[in-house]
Amino acid sequence: MRLVLLGAPGSGKGTQAAQIVSRLKIAHLSTGEMLRAAVASKSPIGHVVESIMERGELVSDEIVVGIVAERLHGEDVKTGYVLDGFPRTVSQAVALDKVLADRGENLDAAVELKVVANDLIDRIMARASQAKAKGGKERADDNPETFALRLQAYEAQTAPLVDYYRSKSVLRSIDGMQAADAVAAAIRNAIGA
Ligand code: ADP
Repeated sequence: MRLVLLGAPGSGKGTQAAQIVSRLKIAHLSTGEMLRAAVASKSPIGHVVESIMERGELVSDEIVVGIVAERLHGEDVKTGYVLDGFPRTVSQAVALDKVLADRGENLDAAVELKVVANDLIDRIMARASQAKAKGGKERADDNPETFALRLQAYEAQTAPLVDYYRSKSVLRSIDGMQAADAVAAAIRNAIGA
C-alpha cells in the first residue's frame, strides 16, 4: 500500500500516519521528521534548512525530492509506505510520479484530512504545551506567528494538490475535525485496508 497524506499543519497527519503504519506494517516517511533529523545532526542539509523551517517557509523542492528519492531505496519501503508532509507542491507531486513511474509503481490513494483552519491554532498550541509538559522541547515552528505562515504556505502551495490527485482519481477526502479514532476509522474505510 502506497499512500500520500495531505492536510494543513496541525490537521492530524502525524497521528494518523502513525496509526496507519502500525496497522498495515508499512513505513512512515515524514519529510518534516527527516528535515528535523538533518537539523539535529547538524548535517550540511540541516544547516541549509534550519532557518527556512523556523520561518515556516518551504524547503526547496530539490532538497526535499532528493531526500525522499533516497529514502525510497530503503528495504523497509518494499511493503509500502505513508508519505506524510510530501508532496507539498505540485512540482514535488510531479517529481514523485516520475520516481514511482521509473519503479513501475503507483499510489493507491492520496488521503486528504479536511479541517477548519481557524481551529488549528488551538491544536498546535496544545501540541507545544504537551511537548513541554512531557519535559520535551516544543518544535521551533510551533508558535502562533510561524504557524500562520505555515498555514499560508499550505493554502498557496499544497492545497492545489487536492485537485491534482482528484484529477488522477486517487483522492480520498476525510473529515479531519472528528475525534482521532473516528478519523482513523474513516481512513480505513476510504482506503479499504
Ligand atoms: P506540519 O505538517 O505540522 O506543518 P511538518 O513536520 O510536515 O509539519 O513540516 C515542518 C516543516 O518542514 C515545514 O514547515 C517545512 O519548512 C519543512 N518541510 C517538510 N516537508 C516539506 C516538503 N515536502 N517541502 C518543503 N518543505 C517541507
